[in-house]
Amino acid sequence: MKILPYPQKSENINGSFCIDGNAKIFCKSEFQQQAERFADLVYGSCGFFLQFTDVIEDAQIIFARDENLPQEGYVIMISQGVATVTGSTSRGIFYAVESLRQIFNLDETQRQIVCNDCYVEDRPQFAYRALMLDIARHFFGPSVIKQIIELMSQVKLNVLHLHLTDDQGFRLQIDKYPLLTEIASVRLGSEVTVDGESYINDVPHGGYLTKDEVKDIVAFAESHNVEIVPEIDIPGHFVAAIAAYPELSCTGTVSEVRKKWSASKDILCAGNDKVYRFVEDVLDEICQLFPSRYVHLGGEEVVKDRWCNCKLCCERMSELKLDTVEELHTHMIEVFRKHLESKGKTVIIRNDGVTKNTDERIVSQLWTPVKRVKDAKKADAERLVIVAPRKKVNFNRTYKALPLRRTLKLNPFRGIKKSERANVLGVEGAVWTQHIENEEQLYFQLLPRLDALAECAWSKRRKDFALRVQKRLAYYDKLGLNYNRKFVRKKQAKPRVDGV
Ligand SMILES: [Zn+2]
Repeated sequence: MKILPYPQKSENINGSFCIDGNAKIFCKSEFQQQAERFADLVYGSCGFFLQFTDVIEDAQIIFARDENLPQEGYVIMISQGVATVTGSTSRGIFYAVESLRQIFNLDETQRQIVCNDCYVEDRPQFAYRALMLDIARHFFGPSVIKQIIELMSQVKLNVLHLHLTDDQGFRLQIDKYPLLTEIASVRLGSEVTVDGESYINDVPHGGYLTKDEVKDIVAFAESHNVEIVPEIDIPGHFVAAIAAYPELSCTGTVSEVRKKWSASKDILCAGNDKVYRFVEDVLDEICQLFPSRYVHLGGEEVVKDRWCNCKLCCERMSELKLDTVEELHTHMIEVFRKHLESKGKTVIIRNDGVTKNTDERIVSQLWTPVKRVKDAKKADAERLVIVAPRKKVNFNRTYKALPLRRTLKLNPFRGIKKSERANVLGVEGAVWTQHIENEEQLYFQLLPRLDALAECAWSKRRKDFALRVQKRLAYYDKLGLNYNRKFVRKKQAKPRVDGV
């Protein structure tokens, strides 16, 4: 059996299963939508529609309920001419259908469905199984985002984290501040590197998501069991918005959406009340648009030189009796955490924005090397963390710098004490798009790494990945999506997994 990601338990049983257009489906009413989705997949593959029946004894495919199974878990039993699928929620059944799609080869054209009898019992290792897509550096619109959501859902990933803002572009319509789309969504040139030499070209780049597009993406994601986590990166990485509203910075002199890729020293002023109102207004519109439990506030790579020389920032520090600019950063994040908490949201920030005073309810995304991870963790042993080590899961890196086998070796518990393992909320991969300008490059960097990420986030085992990913590669060919074909020629059959 070649299911990807690897199921928790699976075995072939003696006997075989075969159905044609005469087979019938029985399903519990709450699973009707998923049963219909399954019937549509069968139609796409075999060209016949399976009929539904109210008489369970007449059915060859049964969707039943078992309240004892975990929310995203499912069981498939194929034996004696009947395939019985059980779950406790429609999310579990959704994943069962994705596994049936692989067991029954439903992405291929065939006349009938034939497979070995088998038993699969499955559930995820982590509740949070995420990919981050940077649409700020280079903009990718609804069609690409929806394609990625669909690919993610097929391998049981369930969170798409959208990096919506950065120095080089602000990519979301905000009604209260129209200049964010008029000015902040367009940069007039980009840093490019040719033969090792970097220069700024004069090719404009722009784009943003309208509110209607976001609503459409969120609804599409929900129907695929994917949660969209929006990210507004503050207080650094914010030059695009500052170019539209220069009074948000300490100097008030920034006038251009950044063309270079490195992080700017111009960040939000932490002593100006206008800044707090501005960010809260933006967050309010974001909360209305995105139903996710989480809002990501970035928080990485904040160069605080400007704060040290700013009258308002220094005044704010003495008012609050703060000794360091790091404490001012923590204070600023805490203001927005409280604001978001009043709207029922939990804040995520990257670990370099976490200090010993950061509220323990803030989730830390661990992306930098182990020492910093340990520092961030020492701050509070109770904090939930998302494991996202850039050396294993930053998919913008070349395959030479980050071979697929290294991603497959990701051990989510590395450096984390046994007693704190329950704090690991999940695993997240990332695609930063400074050097990814078009869809072809994007899919090449992402595929089939997305499948390896799914394996790390869902499964405890990583056996025979190269064998099981073959069907995915054929599917990418069918969709005309670019992917890295080279890796399959290398030895990938049995990656060793550290300590898992
Ligand atoms: Zn300031």
